[in-house]
Amino acid sequence: MLVLGIESSCDDTGVGIVADGREVLAARVQSSAMLHEEFGGIVPELASREHVMAILPAIQNVLTESGIGVGQIDAIAVTRGPGLLGSLLVGVTAAKTLSLALSRPLIGVNHLEAHLYANALAASIEFPAVALLVSGGHSAIYRWSDHGRLQLLGETVDDAAGEVLDKGARTLGLGYPGGPAVERLARTVSMTDLKLPIPRLRHPERRFDLSFSGLKTALVDLHQRHPERLAELAYALETAVVESLVRQAVAAALSENVRHLYLAGGVSANQRLRAVLEERAEGHQIEVHCPLRQYSTDNGAMVACAGYYHWRLGHFMGLDQGPRTPFPLGEDLALTKS
Ligand code: AMP
Ligand code: MG
Repeated sequence: MLVLGIESSCDDTGVGIVADGREVLAARVQSSAMLHEEFGGIVPELASREHVMAILPAIQNVLTESGIGVGQIDAIAVTRGPGLLGSLLVGVTAAKTLSLALSRPLIGVNHLEAHLYANALAASIEFPAVALLVSGGHSAIYRWSDHGRLQLLGETVDDAAGEVLDKGARTLGLGYPGGPAVERLARTVSMTDLKLPIPRLRHPERRFDLSFSGLKTALVDLHQRHPERLAELAYALETAVVESLVRQAVAAALSENVRHLYLAGGVSANQRLRAVLEERAEGHQIEVHCPLRQYSTDNGAMVACAGYYHWRLGHFMGLDQGPRTPFPLGEDLALTKS
């Protein structure tokens, strides 16, 4: 079963061809991140225009690279949302066109779920599990009971983890995207006496929520007091983000009594997050799974993979349907049943 997956929800144009939801035959990502760098964040109109330029060459490239004829593709999967509307429209329009021209089923994928499925490109998912999704726009913890069965356990009440790293990097003058820049600089030190607050939310019914906006403000303040200690500031920022994510994810896994914890989203590329999570979970006999680094940020292969599992469940998207944003995960996974 060959699925071609298309991702265009933000600033990456990704296309991938995946066999049986597991084997990546080809995957290409073209990012417009560099163009947004001078603005310190993504400019939606610019991102949409870049998708328009990149989408057809990306599709052509994965077909050539995999040696797969377009007629051999069995289904088209596309990120339907959440994301930037103009960006989503480019991918959805390309996917609908292919679906119509090739008479192949169209599967609309939730971008957040696609991030979780990047893990299935490494090994079969072990259910039941808890998943920690940490990206530039989202930070959330889910119970993942089975394919197509996700329940939100907690989410950020303000900024996403990636967003605080991006904005923090901007405060420190490290450029965009900030996560990798913070990680590189933080790696040059192994400790610091500079401390940033680790948020603790005490709402009894929302025990696994996250919050990062206070951290952002605290970093601005600390930077003003110690402008010359950049590497230590980066280390303190990374420590606070990692610690807050690890505490909540492990607490959620223990509360749900699961043995498997999946990490996903762009921030999951962070080596310290992976290491601290593994170390902390191991003490509770919880196994941590991470996607391969090349599939942790936005890409088309994870979309193809999620699409494969929804195809198996009989979830399809109609040609009369468009992008959907917002698109909360865990509320409506069934999309359109055939
Ligand atoms: P996504 O939204 O899933 O494409 O992920 C993008 C986000 O991941 C951005 O906020 C990046 O700053 C962040 N990111 C990427 N690589 C790393 C890294 N190595 N460490 C921390 N954050 C990262
Ligand atoms: Mg993403």
